[in-house]
Amino acid sequence: MTWRDQLRRSIRTLEQLEAVVELTDDEREAVRTLGSRFRLGITPYYASLMGGPDCPVRRQAIPTLAEAVLVPGETSDPLAEDAHVVAPGLTRRYPDRALLFVSPTCAVYCRHCTRRRKVGDPREAVGSYGPALAWLAAHPEVDDVLLSGGDPLTLADDALDRLLAALRSLPHPVTIRIGTRHPVTLPMRITEGLCAVLARHGPVRVMTHFNHPREATPEAAEALRRLVASGCPVHNQTVLLAGVNDDAPTLLALNRWLRHLGATPYRLFTCDLVEGTSHFRTTLDRALAIERELRRASGLAAPELVVDLPDGGGKVRVVEGERLPDRWRFTTPEGRVVDLDAQGVPV
Ligand code: SF4
Repeated sequence: MTWRDQLRRSIRTLEQLEAVVELTDDEREAVRTLGSRFRLGITPYYASLMGGPDCPVRRQAIPTLAEAVLVPGETSDPLAEDAHVVAPGLTRRYPDRALLFVSPTCAVYCRHCTRRRKVGDPREAVGSYGPALAWLAAHPEVDDVLLSGGDPLTLADDALDRLLAALRSLPHPVTIRIGTRHPVTLPMRITEGLCAVLARHGPVRVMTHFNHPREATPEAAEALRRLVASGCPVHNQTVLLAGVNDDAPTLLALNRWLRHLGATPYRLFTCDLVEGTSHFRTTLDRALAIERELRRASGLAAPELVVDLPDGGGKVRVVEGERLPDRWRFTTPEGRVVDLDAQGVPV
């Protein structure tokens, strides 16, 4: 099946899902009742990787009623991205970097998604990149642009080609990164045509989001090989998810597979404080213990553990936090002190 066929045949309804997975009562009720909060969408390919109810692939893609639980500290926009919009679709949270929201569409709608407030909603599509490009042209201090969404690789090749050409035409040079989960959820998207576009505007850094060795399929390996062969530095960002990948041997196996294929296990993120995701969060102590285990491996397979501080505080390494008796204390890049409880909730 081509990538377009995969998207056309994406699983979006309870009936379609029940045709391929034997759901638990909890999952069935969650799909019925939580659809308005965050849409369901699973490629046939990703669904084919699913096993029983505790399957790590299944947990990332099929909702459970745990998503209905909202705990204090959770918000719809935990990174305060909307407060840092500088042009339509363009968010600047750091002095030298900006994020361009390229598309609201994803191949799979991950149940832990930080941007679930807007991802999957066609009304969030940015009509024109013109104002964002004009803003970037006027701000040479911003020289690192992350294309994100949604998934930028849902754009057709020619649209992506035009966008990359426009970025390369800015008056100042920029690092271009593409944040995509397609190598994980829709690896057939990494076609020769797409790779030719990426190579034409290279180097284009590709930030992938593999979370579990079950996603390490021959199809995904081929996608990574093609990206690397096209001159794309590939970096993987994993989200630490309770019940999915919160143990060192699992992550070590994933990271070694990535490394063998030429992709760098770059970062391990704690799960952001987005609404309905408390069941995915581990304690910061556990996260740090896992990071320490991973650091026993080759440095090329040891991502750094990062917490993206709530309310737009920015990314900091957990190991740089101060472990006080009843809390963790972090200092944001701007020097603001942020205290978090054991689960990473502000206190
Ligand atoms: S692919 Fe990324 S943006 Fe899309 S739902 Fe998953 S985590 Fe969110």
